[in-house]
Amino acid sequence: MKVSLLRCSRCGRTAIYRRPYEGIALCKACFLRDIEERIRRTISKYDMLKFDDHIAVAVSGGKDSLTLLRILRKMERRFPKSKLTAVTVDEGIRGYRAEAVKLAREYCGELDVDHVVVSFRELFGRTLDQIVRSKKELSPCSYCGVLRRRAIHIAARNAKANKIATAHNLDDEVQTILINIFHGDAKRIARVEPVLVDPAGRFAERIKPVCEIPEKEVALYAYLTGTKFQTTPCPYLTTALRNDVREMLNRIEEKHTGTKFTIFRSMERLRNYLKLSIGAAELRNCRGCGEPTTQEFCEVCKTLGTTLRSGSV
Ligand code: SF4
Ligand code: ZN
Repeated sequence: MKVSLLRCSRCGRTAIYRRPYEGIALCKACFLRDIEERIRRTISKYDMLKFDDHIAVAVSGGKDSLTLLRILRKMERRFPKSKLTAVTVDEGIRGYRAEAVKLAREYCGELDVDHVVVSFRELFGRTLDQIVRSKKELSPCSYCGVLRRRAIHIAARNAKANKIATAHNLDDEVQTILINIFHGDAKRIARVEPVLVDPAGRFAERIKPVCEIPEKEVALYAYLTGTKFQTTPCPYLTTALRNDVREMLNRIEEKHTGTKFTIFRSMERLRNYLKLSIGAAELRNCRGCGEPTTQEFCEVCKTLGTTLRSGSV
């Protein structure tokens, strides 16, 4: 029986991947080059980086963040005035986070990137496991997300980084858009952007260079580059609405190729209208920690349910 091999649409070599949403096939070399080039294009399209930025890269130890770190490290070598610092947040999740911290540390060593680990316990006085045990109103991910964002901001500030790069991929972004729609939260819908600037200027600008790459392509990139990443899922993941949204989106994408990109692009167009109708948020200092917020207490202080020393978190 004659088996016909799939050929790379770019160079004609044997393809290892068929990209359904573009109707092309790619060999290993062309696939890796393509992902790096697309991330470069996203960075340039949204004007994410300058030649002398100090970037704090949020590295969880998963495939997305290690891939982002690898690609930014490659780019950074061409800009001698730029700097990278990897930041890993240890939320305090028993049986899960320790492995990720170890993998992140090893990978940073391989790439020769400075690595900082900050923990919920050290910053907020308790682990995520302890918070989840004492609070039942929201899902663990709701507490985790709020505190993790703050932890990364604090680590970036301490490292004197002016940018924070996170590895949100296309799937993450589209899931967040839908979750915010399900929650009816117009302000948050408008805030899911590839570049997030703190209007009060207290926190570093957040950028998402991987936001136009589908999750499975990031995973393939990590696999093809031999990156060792954490595969154990977080024990709290099953309780998350995000999990259901992910499955739903994957089912739709399977039948209707390109849906994730379509949602992402639709939001690009709608975001400005939304922002105009919502208007600029009025900021004040949180009564608990002194950080900027639109309410009396910021989300972090509300999550911890405590009055914190000004400027401590
Ligand atoms: Fe945190 Fe939820 Fe992610 Fe676990 S799945 S690390 S609880 S956001
Ligand atoms: Zn606060």
